[in-house]
Amino acid sequence: MVSTQTEKVTVCKLLVDGKWIESSATQFVDVYNPSRGIVIARTPLGGMTDLDKAVQAAQRAFIDWKETPVVERARVMFKFKQLLEENYEEIARLVTREHGKTLAEAKASVQRGIEVVEFACGIPSLMMGESMENIARNVDCETIRHPIGVCAGIAPFNFPAMVPLWMYPIALTCGNTFVLKPSEKVPLTSMLIAQYLMQAGLPDGCFNIVHGGKDCVDAIIAHPDIKAISFVGSTNVARYIYTQGTANGKRVQAAGGAKNHIIIMPDADMEQSAQALQASAFGCAGERCMAGSLAIPVGKAADDMMSRLIDRASQMKVGVTDGDTSPDMGPVISREHLDKINGLIDKGQAEGAKLALDGREIHAKAGSTSDKQGFFVGPTIFDHAKADMTIVKEEIFGPVLSVVRVADLEGALALGRNCQYGNGAVIYTNSGRAAREFKRHFNAGMIGVNVGVPAPMAWFPFTGWNNSFFGDLHIQGKEGIQFYTQQKMTMTRWFETSDTRFQDPIWKGK
Ligand code: NAD
Repeated sequence: MVSTQTEKVTVCKLLVDGKWIESSATQFVDVYNPSRGIVIARTPLGGMTDLDKAVQAAQRAFIDWKETPVVERARVMFKFKQLLEENYEEIARLVTREHGKTLAEAKASVQRGIEVVEFACGIPSLMMGESMENIARNVDCETIRHPIGVCAGIAPFNFPAMVPLWMYPIALTCGNTFVLKPSEKVPLTSMLIAQYLMQAGLPDGCFNIVHGGKDCVDAIIAHPDIKAISFVGSTNVARYIYTQGTANGKRVQAAGGAKNHIIIMPDADMEQSAQALQASAFGCAGERCMAGSLAIPVGKAADDMMSRLIDRASQMKVGVTDGDTSPDMGPVISREHLDKINGLIDKGQAEGAKLALDGREIHAKAGSTSDKQGFFVGPTIFDHAKADMTIVKEEIFGPVLSVVRVADLEGALALGRNCQYGNGAVIYTNSGRAAREFKRHFNAGMIGVNVGVPAPMAWFPFTGWNNSFFGDLHIQGKEGIQFYTQQKMTMTRWFETSDTRFQDPIWKGK
């Protein structure tokens, strides 16, 4: 909800050159505590004026930071990691407050972010170039990785700490400076973490924060001094930023939306698979780009899996996440998003899928008033969904699992081939042969075998395919380092002739 009011609730400031300053924006968007449906802050919807201040600061800081030895840059990350660990609880609580996920989920996501900082601590080794002596007669050759300059990150709402942390620890340790635009829905966590980054000794101007929505993103795309953009968000915006950003000569890595397929073979361990599927579909209220949103039981696996799943999901406690209780699932991010999810559930019913568990009833069951004010929808399961239904084709990004029953593994592979996305896919089976077929042929970039959510840890790239990723070098892992560096090749020859060889006075110590 956009407003022009600024009173009562804190308005987020920009971080420019190590100082918190006010935005020049005249429009603001409300930041909610989604558990309670109350406004906790306002995000300014800034544009080029704010962005340019941040980019100029980053540009100035780059001159010194790129000359700072990589081991010194890594030492800032070691200190940053320590501060993140010391303040882990506070960060996780803020994630819960502004996003709504449970405290346990928030802690797990902060931990995944810290792992990227651990990865960045190893950049002095990972950034090393290659060399070859005598690649041609008397010619030596080497490559050296250089930072590229001012980089920008544009983040989604669903992981306020983790997703921005996928980006800037790697960019900074490689010697770049950074401008982050957090999601306008969850700006507070990034602002808190920025304080630890500065406390860790990062020089002023190396890391900056701007706030806003589309205008701010368009300013990032247009700014001539930004060399690279890392984006994580929905597919249409990812495609837009990739197309416009690359047209403006920038490097872009843009991760988009997803529809992740979970295949259950008849020989799978049914109880373990049901447990993992439940966590994958309904963890973080389904607001995960790696959430298992499409279950595909093969043959006789279907009835058994459905009864276990419905039994488990219907027992999940849904409620306020920042209070004294610890529910299994929290709210979704906003009233608008809740309405969108409910609309897609309506559509699933209208298109003929069988609603086996209706999460919209959660408000009727919820006990407290505050539950009713928050943005809640409970676990929802559709059985007998078909390939051409909206709930099977589109990302819902909520706790809604669609189940498509198929006769054989080929039926599951066919569903994957027809999917526009390609983030994650998982198979539950005890058959090595089935797992191998699946691993080789399923049309997605991150594959799990008997694991809940195959989201790679920081040492591996986040390898989305199809409309789940636009670009060449993925986020995290060695690809992340390649993205944030440019190589310089040097070829060296020192002339010599057969006459002078070994006759040069230098060789004789003269
Ligand atoms: P979003 O695309 O609406 O917003 C992401 C960012 O883009 C925000 O910072 C926002 O301000 C900006 N933005 C929004 N609309 C824009 C527009 N029209 N033009 C320019 N910029 C715009 O995404 P979201 O709702 O914040 O996050 C959920 C989405 O992110 C889901 O689709 C989810 O799958 C995806 N996601 C993907 C990954 C991945 O690794 N592939 C990870 C997390 C989330």
